[in-house]
Amino acid sequence: MADDRMDAIVVGAGPAGITAARELATAGLSTVVLERGQFPGSKNVWGGILYREPTEAIIPGFEAEAPLERPIIEQRYMLLSFDAAMTASYKSMRFAEEPYNAYTAFRGDFDQWYAAKAEEEGVEVYPEFTVTDLLWEDGAVVGVTTGDAEGELYANVVVLADGANSLLGQRAGLHEEWQPDEQALVAKETLRLDATKIEERFNLPAGKGTALEIFGESTWGMLGYGFIYTNKDSLSIGTGALLSDLITSGRNVNDMLDRFKAHPAIVPLIEGAESEEYSAHLIPEGGYNRLPRFYADGVVMVGDAAGLVNPLNREGANLAMLSGKFAGMAIIEATECGDFSATGLARYRELLEESFVVKDLYKIRHMTDFAHDRPWLFGEYPELISEAARRYLTVSGQPKASVQKDILKLFGGVPKKRLLGDAVGALRVIKG
Ligand SMILES: Cc1cc2nc3c(=O)[nH]c(=O)nc-3n(C[C@H](O)[C@H](O)[C@H](O)COP(=O)(O)OP(=O)(O)OC[C@H]3O[C@@H](n4cnc5c(N)ncnc54)[C@H](O)[C@@H]3O)c2cc1C
Repeated sequence: MADDRMDAIVVGAGPAGITAARELATAGLSTVVLERGQFPGSKNVWGGILYREPTEAIIPGFEAEAPLERPIIEQRYMLLSFDAAMTASYKSMRFAEEPYNAYTAFRGDFDQWYAAKAEEEGVEVYPEFTVTDLLWEDGAVVGVTTGDAEGELYANVVVLADGANSLLGQRAGLHEEWQPDEQALVAKETLRLDATKIEERFNLPAGKGTALEIFGESTWGMLGYGFIYTNKDSLSIGTGALLSDLITSGRNVNDMLDRFKAHPAIVPLIEGAESEEYSAHLIPEGGYNRLPRFYADGVVMVGDAAGLVNPLNREGANLAMLSGKFAGMAIIEATECGDFSATGLARYRELLEESFVVKDLYKIRHMTDFAHDRPWLFGEYPELISEAARRYLTVSGQPKASVQKDILKLFGGVPKKRLLGDAVGALRVIKG
C-alpha cells in the first residue's frame, strides 16, 4: 500500500460528508472530500427546509453567512380530493421572530457555501471526482479509486457520504441492494414568482415564508406527499411516492407533478410562475427496521447513505450533518487508539444511538408499514372526508338531521373493523 495514506477520505460533499470532513480537519487529521458533481450541491436535491437549531449546533453563526431564502413562520397541511382541498395551518408570530425555527434554502447555494467554509477550515474538496470503487486489504477498506491507477487514494478510514442509494455502501457489505419499498422517488420543480405575489398568495409578511405539505390527490392517492415551500422569489414544488408503488401502479413522478400542479387548489398558488429548474431524487424510507450496518473495518457510512431520514418530521439534512459529526468524532478516537477496525469505529454507532437520531427513527418505526398496508388512507379517505364536508356545508332545503344521516351513510361502506384498526394502528404509530 502507498505510504502517503491520509487519515480520511470522504466520498460526497453533501451536508453529511462536509460535516464529517470539518470535524476531522479541525482535529488536525488530513482529510479530502471527493465529489462527483461539478461543484458541491450541483447534483443535490431537496425540498428546502433547513432547521435552525440543529444547524446552529453544527455551524455556529450560520444565519449571518449562509445563503438562506425565507424564515418559515407557518406550517400548513392540506388534504386534496379530486376537486377540493381541506387545510389546517399553524402560524406563529413567535416563528416570525428571531431566533427562527426554520428557513428555506437551495442546496446548490447552501452546499457550495458550506464546502467553501470547510475549505477555510483546512478540508480539501475535489469536485468532479467520481469514486467508482473501494480498495481493500486483508478484508478492510483502505481507500477508494476513481477507476484508473492515478485515481487510487489510500486512507485509514473512508467515510461514505454518497447519499441515497449508496452503491459504495453495498460494495462495502454494509447493506444489500435497497429495495423499491425502501426508497421514495420525488420530482421537484423551482418556479420563479415575484416576492410580492408570493406574499399576497400565501398571506405572508414581507420576507417571511410558509411550508405546505399536501396529501391525497397530490400523490395520486399513493403513500407520499406533495409540498410547496416559499423562497425569496420562487416556489419549490414537488411530489413523490414509494418507488414500489410507482412501479406497481405504472405511474411516474413527472406525470404526478404535472397532475398536482393542475389541481384547482394549487393552480391559483402557482399561476404565472415560470419553471426554472426540474429534478428528481430518491429519499431513503426504510426507517429504523431497515437501517444498514453503519461501519465495518476501515469504513463508516453517514447521512442518506446510511438511511438516516425522518420522513414524518421532514428531517434529513440535520440528521446527515449530525451523523457526519459523530462519524468524525469516532474516527478521531480510532486515530488516537490506532485501531481502524470495526471494533475501533464502533463508537460511531454508540453516538448515533445515544442521540435523538436513532431514537426518533425507532419511535416512528411502524409508520411506513402502517401507511403502506392501508392504501385507502391517501385515496379513498380524502374523497370520503371531502364529500362529507361538501354535504355538511351545502345549505339546502334538506333538514340537517337528514343531511347528517346521509353523511353517516357515506361512511357505511367502510368496514367498521377497518376503521377501528386504522384508529388503533395510528395511535400505535404515534405512541411508538
Ligand atoms: C425531494 C427531496 C426533498 C427533501 N426535503 C428535505 C427538507 O425539506 N429538509 C431536510 O432536512 N431534508 C430534506 N430532504 C432530505 C435531504 O436532502 C437529505 O437527507 C440530505 O441531503 C442528505 O445529505 P447527505 O450528505 O447524506 O447526501 P446528499 O446531500 O445526497 O449528498 C451526497 C453527495 O455525494 C455525491 N456522490 C454520490 N456518489 C458519489 C461518488 N460515487 N463519488 C463522489 N461523489 C458522490 C453526490 O453528488 C452528493 O453531492 C429531501 C430530499 C429530497 C430528495
